[in-house]
Amino acid sequence: MLSIAGSDSGGGAGIQADLKAFARAGVHGMTAITAITAQSTVAVDAVYPLPGAAIVAQVRAVAEDIGVDAVKIGMLGTTEAIAAVGDALDLVADAPVVLDPVMVSESGGTLLAPDAIESLAAQLLPRATVVTPNLPEARVLAGLGEDTSAEQLARAVQALGPSAVVVTGGHSDQLVDTFFDGETVVAIPGERHTDGAAHGSGCTHSSTLAARIALGDDPLTAARRAREVAGAAVRDGLRGVGAGAGPVDVFGLLRRKTPLA
Ligand code: PLP
Repeated sequence: MLSIAGSDSGGGAGIQADLKAFARAGVHGMTAITAITAQSTVAVDAVYPLPGAAIVAQVRAVAEDIGVDAVKIGMLGTTEAIAAVGDALDLVADAPVVLDPVMVSESGGTLLAPDAIESLAAQLLPRATVVTPNLPEARVLAGLGEDTSAEQLARAVQALGPSAVVVTGGHSDQLVDTFFDGETVVAIPGERHTDGAAHGSGCTHSSTLAARIALGDDPLTAARRAREVAGAAVRDGLRGVGAGAGPVDVFGLLRRKTPLA
């Protein structure tokens, strides 16, 4: 599995979360880093984008030697990174692609330049097997307002080219993801853990979804499993780590009586 995403120095989200989610799913994780963030639980202090050539080189190295069964794409940051990832996807043949259109960090930092949204939609959405926006990201991609339902958003984003969409985190009395594959709309209920720690929950969700597709699940089955795993990771999240939103714990390490190592 390959994660093309940003690095979170706080270890909660980005490639750090992706590798943990891949390990939990039982797949080998590889990474192509798009940007390095200097980030705590409180703020994104700085973002250092990598040159497009560096992104393509990372993908080429692992695609030619190891092989890529599925790709998860997270933070991209700039139009240059988006163009590079578009080129890099030519190196992984027809591997399924799960695209998490990351725009803002849990602490409110900007992770996608506003002028890059059109490029993301035009260059990468049509190549995606599944796109996993949360409600605000889906509104931005679809160009629709606050009063649009999750189902309308899922239909509008799917019309931009991906095979399927999961709009994550809809509100009712419980958390509901909305899945649409061009034919069927399916509500995927999940548990909401407001007393958990959620930094990295989106990354954990999209990485688990991509891993499950690599292992042979259809997108809907993978999306259901991803909701369960991301929900449990929030429930087990590390409260009290840092002064801001604590990181998810996809292994439930603190609940274990004995550590894995
Ligand atoms: N990628 C990076 C590098 C990040 O720093 C973040 C959030 O801070 C994200 C992705 C998205 O994180 P989440 O899984 O909390 O949506």
